[in-house]
Amino acid sequence: MLINVLKFGGTSVANLKRIENVVKIVEKRIKDNSSKIILVVSAMSGVTNELIKEFKKIKNEISDPEYDVIVSTGEQSSSALISSLLNKKKIESRSLLGWQIPILTDGNHSKARIIKINSNVLKNHLERYRVLVIAGFQGISKENRITTLGRGGSDTTAVAISYALGLKTCEIYTDVEGIFTSDPRIVKDANKIDSITYDEILELASLGSKVLHPRSVELAMKYGIRIHVRSSFDKKLGTMVVKEENKIEKEVVTGITSSENEAKITLKGIPDKPGIAAKIFSTLASNNINVDMIVQNITDDGRFASLTFTVPVEDERKSLKELRSSDIKFKKIHSNSSICKISIVGVGMKSNVGVAQKMFETLAKKNINIQVISTSEIKISVLIDLPKKKIALKALHSAYGLGK
Ligand code: ADP
Ligand code: ASP
Ligand code: MG
Repeated sequence: MLINVLKFGGTSVANLKRIENVVKIVEKRIKDNSSKIILVVSAMSGVTNELIKEFKKIKNEISDPEYDVIVSTGEQSSSALISSLLNKKKIESRSLLGWQIPILTDGNHSKARIIKINSNVLKNHLERYRVLVIAGFQGISKENRITTLGRGGSDTTAVAISYALGLKTCEIYTDVEGIFTSDPRIVKDANKIDSITYDEILELASLGSKVLHPRSVELAMKYGIRIHVRSSFDKKLGTMVVKEENKIEKEVVTGITSSENEAKITLKGIPDKPGIAAKIFSTLASNNINVDMIVQNITDDGRFASLTFTVPVEDERKSLKELRSSDIKFKKIHSNSSICKISIVGVGMKSNVGVAQKMFETLAKKNINIQVISTSEIKISVLIDLPKKKIALKALHSAYGLGK
């Protein structure tokens, strides 16, 4: 049985007109070949945000089973609407929610991970229906409670379904033509990238570019599934995510991204002794707080140190509270969330020198102060003041020759 998995994001199903467009894409596919089609769909754009807003009027903590029950309803509606329109057009279809397949996940509410998908149920339904419309982003835990996979998680549902069915490709339809050298909504002369490696898009996605959910890329990389990111509104080919050895031209910098999801915490006047950093970070880790960038300075007399690091912005208050109430000695603690992380990513960085220097020089020329730096083999990230975000993105984009 030939099966195609097509995922449509929120803007692609935002209203009835857009849903009609999805149905047209399905009709064209049916005309072209005999494949069975699985659509994985997001909630209509804006719906998930509204649902979260309502939930937060009652409770701020989202790792709650009821949060998942509420936010998953967006996909329940869109999958049913799309399936209804397909049926109206005489294309046999049905909607499927996470629990009906089931898509079994762990019990980590609001950020659950998929454990197993029952592909036999899907295959059985495909015997009967031409199209299945699966509600993305949701699953069910062993405790029989509805779970969700984290914001943007429908991409991960689509790749996981492709894997469960033994498919080699997954198509992600979205509101831009593919993956660009930077967010095309911020950097107007950003270019579409024809092919990008798993490592590169994994870095870009993890560092803030929301075009793909990072875990969808992790899964695709692990199981060798090709992802094709393309536009719902344009027939052109989009971006193929490929293995590094399949990419002939390895750009030094492939893409630039930004993230506003971090808060910077600084501890001043901590004794410069072995074990202090371990204590600080174990306090945070034991509270499930993920630390990203870190920098440490020592005072001239060598007795004290100051430590600056970043945590997810939603953990800012909790981090301050836990550190203040611990027995860790420090003179001052403060935090700042008006910051932004800018990252440049490219596999070609491994074999080129001067990449970091160009980044620092470019920012210096724009009078942008770098607060923290972190690097890996294929990325450099810097922390800067939030108001400088756009200027930094545009300047770096042109410094690395990525513009049109
Ligand atoms: P969907 O609803 O289809 O899942 P998303 O809003 O999650 O779509 O992701 C698509 C958006 O990602 C684009 O509209 C674009 O603004 C943003 N984006 C950020 N960085 C990039 C990038 N490098 N390339 C393409 N899009 C990007
Ligand atoms: N609807 C969910 C969100 O807005 C999941 C998704 O769109 O992928 O985050
Ligand atoms: Mg998305």
